[in-house]
Amino acid sequence: MTLIVQKYGGTSVGTIERIQAVANRVVQSQKQNHQIVVVVSAMSGETDRLLSLAKSLSRMPPPRELDVLLSTGEQVTIALLSMALEEKGYTAVSYTGAQVHIRTDNVHNKARIVDIDSARVQQQLRQGKIVVVAGFQGIDEDGNITTLGRGGSDTTAVAMAAALNADECHIYTDVDGVYTADPRIVQSAKRLRVITYEEMLEMASLGSKVLQIRAVEFARKYNVDLRVLSSFETGSGTLITDEDENMEAALISGIAHNRDEAKLTIVGVPDMPGIASQILGPIADANIEVDMIVQNVGLDNTTDFTFTVNRGDYEKALAILQKTAQSIDAKNVAGDNKIVKISVVGVGMRSHAGIASTMFSALADEGINIQMISTSEIKISVVVAEKYLELGLRTLHTAFALDNGAVTDLIN
Ligand code: ADP
Ligand code: ASP
Ligand code: MG
Repeated sequence: MTLIVQKYGGTSVGTIERIQAVANRVVQSQKQNHQIVVVVSAMSGETDRLLSLAKSLSRMPPPRELDVLLSTGEQVTIALLSMALEEKGYTAVSYTGAQVHIRTDNVHNKARIVDIDSARVQQQLRQGKIVVVAGFQGIDEDGNITTLGRGGSDTTAVAMAAALNADECHIYTDVDGVYTADPRIVQSAKRLRVITYEEMLEMASLGSKVLQIRAVEFARKYNVDLRVLSSFETGSGTLITDEDENMEAALISGIAHNRDEAKLTIVGVPDMPGIASQILGPIADANIEVDMIVQNVGLDNTTDFTFTVNRGDYEKALAILQKTAQSIDAKNVAGDNKIVKISVVGVGMRSHAGIASTMFSALADEGINIQMISTSEIKISVVVAEKYLELGLRTLHTAFALDNGAVTDLIN
């Protein structure tokens, strides 16, 4: 008997028919002598709908109350899926995050799981039941409902798998695996047969929302055997795993993009010690996360300082920066929220030179201007105008020969 945690995302449980199809799939797995824990998301569009209800009442809804609201989406789908399973003659039991003791910290709207007491789930499994758990939610020390940030059901599934010491964790979604680029934008993208935790972590943090970052972090930390699969088709999907010697490192395994950023620049800042912290201090105090930072020193002893933030924080950051500009005697403040970050990722980059120049010249050949650059050991990111998103992705996909399977041994 093996224990499998299966997670179904919003589109996969988006209608009654799809919930019935999920029930069929769960039942088939159980028949193959597996114990099954199912984690579900809210029906597609539901979390957005709840968010906009809250926003129509309040510009900044109280985070605690927002979590009470948002967690209802998943409570609907656990109940419906359990009913669908019972209807087929199977015994199922649904649980909210609190009921199975998914303990989190108290950071509402983006809480982290700190502990899961899996005794109750284990007891139900021993009785032959299919256990259906609400994704995306937990409970803090004081009994308040928390949510785990967008895409958080992935993390619930991986954390459940770790806590239960499950044999496998399957993430069922609306694509049949992890691709070399978002298959909805790059038609020639190829499905990867395997990808390392490290690369997946990088792809997720650079905007590939196929898996939530924390889910990958958890999987790596607890060595969870994680697979991304289609809930609509059969197939072997993509395995996320440790690097092993038999896995030939791809030079570039994927290209990620993030539309969710905005750029701010403060121009003509006096170039002296402490200026960066004077600019970024008030931004951090307002709980705004900064991603990329570029500082150029001009000949006249002033500098231009540019950074990116989440697009949702753009207006707030701009207002703060305008205040700072006055106090430090800067010439000007500028901003642009029509930008996109495109990143190439690959562990093979460690041992190869020339990736950056290939990337930059491919973009230049298409007349795409690079506004910012940042690099790490296994990725290179550029910021370009949003209108170049599709062209930029396709150009780089071709430039790194991903269209014709440069990572052939990693692709089915
Ligand atoms: P779910 O609701 O099942 O959690 P998500 O919408 O969160 O699904 O994630 C799946 C989506 O991720 C796909 O529909 C796809 O558009 C997007 N995506 C972005 N980058 C990639 C990638 N490299 N490989 C596969 N899918 C990707
Ligand atoms: N329902 C939540 C969201 O839309 C969590 C999830 O689907 O993973 O972000
Ligand atoms: Mg998701």
